[in-house]
Amino acid sequence: MNIHEYQAKAILKEFGAPVSRGVAVFSVDEAEAAATSLGGPLWVVKSQIHAGGRGKGKFKEASAGEKGGVRLAKSIDEVKTFVGQMLGATLVTVQTGPAGKQVNRLYIEDGSDIEKEFYLSMLVDRATGRVAFVVSTEGGMDIETVAHDTPEKIVTFSVDPATGLMPHHGRTIAKALGLTGDLAKQAGTLAAQLYAAFTGKDMAMLEINPLIVTTDGQLKCLDAKVSFDSNALYRHPDMVALRDLTEEDSKEIEASKYDLSYIALDGTIGCMVNGAGLAMATMDIIKLYGEEPANFLDVGGGASKEKVTAAFKIITADPNVKGILVNIFGGIMRCDIIAEGVIAAVKDVGLQVPLVVRLEGTNVELGKKIISESGLNVIAADDLDDAAAKIVKAVKGNA
Ligand code: GDP
Ligand code: MG
Repeated sequence: MNIHEYQAKAILKEFGAPVSRGVAVFSVDEAEAAATSLGGPLWVVKSQIHAGGRGKGKFKEASAGEKGGVRLAKSIDEVKTFVGQMLGATLVTVQTGPAGKQVNRLYIEDGSDIEKEFYLSMLVDRATGRVAFVVSTEGGMDIETVAHDTPEKIVTFSVDPATGLMPHHGRTIAKALGLTGDLAKQAGTLAAQLYAAFTGKDMAMLEINPLIVTTDGQLKCLDAKVSFDSNALYRHPDMVALRDLTEEDSKEIEASKYDLSYIALDGTIGCMVNGAGLAMATMDIIKLYGEEPANFLDVGGGASKEKVTAAFKIITADPNVKGILVNIFGGIMRCDIIAEGVIAAVKDVGLQVPLVVRLEGTNVELGKKIISESGLNVIAADDLDDAAAKIVKAVKGNA
C-alpha cells in the first residue's frame, strides 16, 4: 500500500526526522490559509499523487501551466494561482504511465534553500532478509539512471536485525555523502530515526529523494515516498486509514474485497489462473505467442464459486480485454468449482469476447462436462501451449 508524500512526512516527523512545515489542501481557499499560516517568503506547491517525478512531469491540460507538478511560489497570490491551475488537472510523469493521474490534493510547504541534494532510500533486501540502505550523492535524480551510468556513486549496506541500527551505519552514510562535523552527526541521528520509522511501521520502502543540506547547514527530508508491506497492515490500522482509493485501480480494489491476487496490466488477454507460478507461466506463454496479458490473477488454492465469479466479472469489466484465458490446474481447487463460477459470471454479465478454458486435475471431467452442457461458446484447450495458441489466434482473428 502506498501513501501520499505529506502523509509520509507526518510519519517521519513523528519519529523526529527533519521535514519542512506544511499543510495539505483541497481548494484554493485552503491553500491561501495554509500559505498565510506558513508565512513565506518561499512556498512549495506540491501535487499529491502516488507517483514520483512530479517536478519534471507535465499536465495534460494547457490551463495547468508549463511548470510541472512541484512549483516554487514567491507570494501567496502565486500559491493560489498554482493551486488553481493544478487542482483537478492530470499530471503525467515517468511513473504514472501515459494516462497520468488526477491531482486532487496539494501540499503547501515552507520553502527551503538548498545547498546540496542527496539520495537515500531503505527497502527490505530479500537476498539478505534485512533492511537495506541505499545512499548516493546524486540526489534529485532518477536513481535507476545513476545505477546505470555511475554505479560507483551508490553505496548500499544492510542492518543486522539482531543489533538494529548502530553508530557505524550513520558513519557509513556520512562518509558516502561526504558529510563531516555536525552534518555527519545529523546523518547518524537521521539514520536511527528512519530505521525506527521503517521497522516500527512495517514499511516495504522508504525513499527520500532529495535529502538536502540547507544553506544553514541542516539535513532535511525534502521528499518522501513510502509503501507498506501489505501483509503487515493488520498491525497498523492507522496506516490503513491513510489509504487513498482514488489513487488505486478500481479493479484491484474490487479484487482485494474478495482476497484475490490481482494486478492490472496493459495487454489484451484476461487471465484467470490458480497459483502464482502458473499465473506467471500463463503470462509468459501468452507473450511467447505474441500477445500481452491484461492482468495477473491468482484465484488461489481453495477459491469458492463466488470468488471465481467475482474474478471473472473483474476481467470482463476491463474494456482492454479482447479475450479470456482460464487456465486451471485443479489440486485443492476443483475444476467443477471453476466451471460453475465461470458460468455463473457469464450468465450475469454476458460474454463479449472469446473464451478459452484449459482445465486439468481434480474433477476435470466434471468441470469439462459442466462447461460443455452450459451451451457457452467456449473454446476448449488440451494443455497450456494449446490454450495460449488458441486464445491468441482468437484475439487476433477478432481484431
Ligand atoms: P518529485 O519530482 O516527485 O520527486 O518531487 P520532489 O519533492 O522531489 O520535488 C522536485 C524538486 O523540486 C526537488 O528535487 C527540488 O529540486 C525542488 N524542490 C522541492 N522542494 C523545494 C524547496 O523547498 N526549495 C527548493 N528550492 N526547491 C525545492
Ligand atoms: Mg523527489
